[in-house]
Amino acid sequence: MEQIVRKSLLYRSQVEYGDYCINHIEGCAHGCKFPCYAMLLKKRCGVIKDYQEWLKPKLVSNALELLKKELPRHKNRIQYIHMCFSSDPFMYGFPQVCELTLRIIEELRKNEIKAVILTKGLLPPSLISTERFGTENDYGITLVSLNDGFKQAYEPNAAPYRERISSLRFLHSKGLKTWVSIEPYPTPNIIKQELRIILDEVSFVDKIVFGKMNYNPLALQYKGWEEFYEECAEKVIEHCLRSNIELHIKRGTSRRYDARDMAHVRKKDVKANDLTNNYRPGLFE
Ligand code: SF4
Repeated sequence: MEQIVRKSLLYRSQVEYGDYCINHIEGCAHGCKFPCYAMLLKKRCGVIKDYQEWLKPKLVSNALELLKKELPRHKNRIQYIHMCFSSDPFMYGFPQVCELTLRIIEELRKNEIKAVILTKGLLPPSLISTERFGTENDYGITLVSLNDGFKQAYEPNAAPYRERISSLRFLHSKGLKTWVSIEPYPTPNIIKQELRIILDEVSFVDKIVFGKMNYNPLALQYKGWEEFYEECAEKVIEHCLRSNIELHIKRGTSRRYDARDMAHVRKKDVKANDLTNNYRPGLFE
């Protein structure tokens, strides 16, 4: 695997649920075709020339060294560090990437900094070592479908959905905090599927982030896409309230819940009877 050297590593994220961020890999072999926003950005900035180059990840060989140098400067301002917004920390089929990510999480643990992980690969079972990694981290997978044909078309080299879910479920079974990012969720003209089935598959997680599909003209071509995402947001909210799951509906996905700043809704906000008998769209209006 090719290696590169960087001048800095830690930076403040602009993503709405991000705090600080580390990207210790350049490129991503998963090759998502939603499209991948990170790839679009790198192309626009001239860092890579095309999709083929993006598929060949390069490891930042001095990542740990940079981290040790930069952490003391930022430590007091950091709530948590997200990995990664512009690559995948547990890239499927890339043990070198996984090993470096584990060493970074370990270093963060030594500095009492929480890591928030998101992957379309597999979360290694070794993360259950509380001595190495602690118990405060959030471990997440992206899951926007359960259909293998869709995965082949849109996330060709990422881990199979069922294996992704199993790796997450294993960490949950060991008492670690888990979450799922259902984003970018595709419209029915891209794939016909039932969101509730996906939600049921991951009903054990502690948090769900839901967001619409951006940067894909097909999603906007779907007549009624706004209403579709309103309905999806309702389903996610209902599911999270029923199962006492923390939730975050991403900006621009639902007008109704954006307007009410419904980023974080908890079951305690509504009476149990409302949930079991009277839940209806618009409950919070
Ligand atoms: S896993 Fe993330 S970074 Fe990698 S190609 Fe897919 S969207 Fe891009």
